[in-house]
Amino acid sequence: MASVAAATTTASAVKKEKKKVNERVAFKTESEVEVLDDGFKWRKYGKKMVKNSPNPRNYYKCSADGCPVKKRVERDRVDPSFVITTYEGSHNHASRN
Ligand SMILES: [Zn+2]
Repeated sequence: MASVAAATTTASAVKKEKKKVNERVAFKTESEVEVLDDGFKWRKYGKKMVKNSPNPRNYYKCSADGCPVKKRVERDRVDPSFVITTYEGSHNHASRN
């Protein structure tokens, strides 16, 4: 008879999470356009030149009322055929219809 070793999880080992910081998710996409259609509407609110990169970084904010989500978009400086999109936060609404 095989005996199964029971894995015990110690609850005390679980770190207490502090107040949630905005999660960031980054995507690298091969694309000619910089603003990918991700189902949401975005409003550009800033632009910044990036050190050691010929490409500026663009900042967008979700255009939905009261939605805290932001994203920033920049071209990969190593391979400019790729766009890096970083999302911050989560939408408080469904995608646009
Ligand atoms: Zn939103």
